Amino acid sequence: MTTRALKGPFDYRLPESMNVEVGSILVVPFGRQRLLGVVVGTAEKSAISPDRLVEPVKALEAGVRPELVELGLAVAREYASTPARGLQLVLPPGIGLGKGGRGRIKERMLLTARLNEAGERALDDQGIRLGARQRQILEALRENHRSVAELCRDLDVDHSSVRRLAERDLVALKSEAVRRRPSIHRVGALGRVESLTAEQKQALESIIAAMDGVQPERGEHSSLLLDGVTGSGKTEVYLRAAKAALDRGRSVIVLVPEIALTPQTVYRFQERFGDCVAVLHSKLGQGERYDEWQRLRRGEATICVGPRSAIFAPVASPGLIVLDEEHDSSYKQESDPRYDARRVAEMRAAQSGAVLVAGSATPRPESWHRLEKLRLPTRVDGRQLPSVEVLDMRESPAILHSETRRALSEVCSNKEKAVLLLNRRGWSSFLVCRSCGVVRRCRNCDVSLTLHRGNGADRIICHHCGYSEEAGRTCPGCGSASVARFGLGTERLEAELAAILDRLPIFRLDADTASSKDGVGRVLRKFDQAESALLLGTQMVAKGHDFPDVTLGVVLDADSSLMFPDFRSEERTFALISQLAGRSGRGPAGGKVLVQTMAPGAECIRCAAEHDSAKFLEAELKRRRELGYPPFSELARVVCHAESETLAQDAARTVAGDLSTGSLDVLGPAPLFRLRGRHRWQVMVKGKDREAVVDAVGAAVGALSKGRGYRKVSLSVDIDPQ
Ligand code: ADP
Ligand code: ZN
Ligand code: ZN
Repeated sequence: MTTRALKGPFDYRLPESMNVEVGSILVVPFGRQRLLGVVVGTAEKSAISPDRLVEPVKALEAGVRPELVELGLAVAREYASTPARGLQLVLPPGIGLGKGGRGRIKERMLLTARLNEAGERALDDQGIRLGARQRQILEALRENHRSVAELCRDLDVDHSSVRRLAERDLVALKSEAVRRRPSIHRVGALGRVESLTAEQKQALESIIAAMDGVQPERGEHSSLLLDGVTGSGKTEVYLRAAKAALDRGRSVIVLVPEIALTPQTVYRFQERFGDCVAVLHSKLGQGERYDEWQRLRRGEATICVGPRSAIFAPVASPGLIVLDEEHDSSYKQESDPRYDARRVAEMRAAQSGAVLVAGSATPRPESWHRLEKLRLPTRVDGRQLPSVEVLDMRESPAILHSETRRALSEVCSNKEKAVLLLNRRGWSSFLVCRSCGVVRRCRNCDVSLTLHRGNGADRIICHHCGYSEEAGRTCPGCGSASVARFGLGTERLEAELAAILDRLPIFRLDADTASSKDGVGRVLRKFDQAESALLLGTQMVAKGHDFPDVTLGVVLDADSSLMFPDFRSEERTFALISQLAGRSGRGPAGGKVLVQTMAPGAECIRCAAEHDSAKFLEAELKRRRELGYPPFSELARVVCHAESETLAQDAARTVAGDLSTGSLDVLGPAPLFRLRGRHRWQVMVKGKDREAVVDAVGAAVGALSKGRGYRKVSLSVDIDPQ
């Protein structure tokens, strides 16, 4: 029951025999179907008369913690979603709400065999008749008991022989649960840390003081910002803070942006804390995820590391919640409920009296403004941050500035490593006919198609819906063979660089090379192991990788992210450049960074070059205050999608009209580009009070989805859009 119209909760009559509490998961009749439901409350009486109420079919074994039921419902409210969708966030993995529990994941059971006393006697007593095979099986089991499958494989016997021994009571068969373990890869440097730097020590002490000062029963909590430059040893602070929480009998949640891109954090936690660390993420097999969830639920694992969804980990009483790389956009979920794990982390911390530690080298303006700051201003080894040079590309027609060329060939001759960022994948991002001017566009979306030349066949692909067609040699409009390619992408850059740097291996990391299972890990490991190499790619290369032998970082088209009409463009550009700079010069050879741009004067680029996040953030906050953007206001966005352009626009007008009656600022309706064959119109709302914004949006959207004329319109609601 996940459609917006179905709100719930629904009442059921409980039989005496059924033991049910908040969080229990029930199979319930719903119309003619059977669905799964979560108990959100129990009561003596219902407004519906008892003879009209039906009973649940049964209760499932593992339920949800009551405080997580509360959190799921609160998230649904906070993000103007439905209770069912909110509760889905906190359910055990693989439970398949809505399918009546069919296809549900269970524990993996293994049949094991053990020698009975009678079996022991049979081996010693000549009076009992045993075939040679049977004797062999019993002898193997006398050594140690083991799974039947293994036994059969090792001795090359079949199941029925073991079963017959069991029927004669010589062998006991038992079904036991076995744990499916996620595999871990070792990545990057893993320095032993003997003692903390003075700054780390001070940060840790503040976190522990907050932990001890907090009284969970009063619902107090504190949120701290660990503002530490790249390589300042933030992870070591998280690790020791986690230890302190465990020592106090509390559990720990560690959120990381994306496991594939930040495997080091997971690895360090597992290396330090062993089996009490569980990981939860979507790349795990269903069975692994189920087992990890159960280990957390039962308290066998007390530290959960994972991406945004791990904020709903079923641990008891978290005392510390870490948000690593808190600026990362992956903390926002882009489907309903469009929750922000950073905000949910605060909700959960408040609920359990936990300390929240958000860490980053490039904190968000919101966090800088609101949280208490702990600073780690220098790298642990006392090394300088790399020098950053901004290269003005307005006069340069070439892809690479002459400085960049020189630096790359130095890397080549000194046998060093470089990381190069170009935030655009493919070969070129649009094709234009030189005679008739036609641009090749997607048939489902109003965007240009990107040329990809991989594997010989030239194809043009839509990066929004995946539509693709053969590029062909001529313009489909006029037949001209003269087609221009614009917008340099990573694929073409790789080819161009391979021609210049013939002795340097190049590894490309973007959505295309990372799509296979463990694709990212493979590329990163190869780069790590190479003696000298270039890692080239989209923003993926700027994440928290720690490769000590990188001496050069390069950003191409640094201002491309500034061209989006979005108030967060400056913040994103600043973070991207600073994070890329953070990959360089982490080892004894030092490092430098080159930033190619058409906008060398932009404040965010200048501040990134000076490594001055405080200056950038203060300027950015001033600008936001003047324009009334977050954190000085609350924003929400409603997008109306429909096949018919007028219908989408009409719906958006209705929503805007509904919203305009209160004290809120309404911006729009404004068109967005057509996506997957659907026209889109959006309305933005700005207000001082979050609850007022959420309530107004919820009401407007609720009214529209009931309206008969708008059945063919779908709505997406985004509170605090990113
Ligand atoms: P950050 O997360 O701030 O970028 P890391 O936690 O990755 O920094 O630390 C960078 C490197 O420094 C890691 O290899 C880590 O093991 C090492 N390190 C951290 N703290 C210390 C310390 N106090 N002494 C020596 N090395 C340290
Ligand atoms: Zn043409
Ligand atoms: Zn498309």
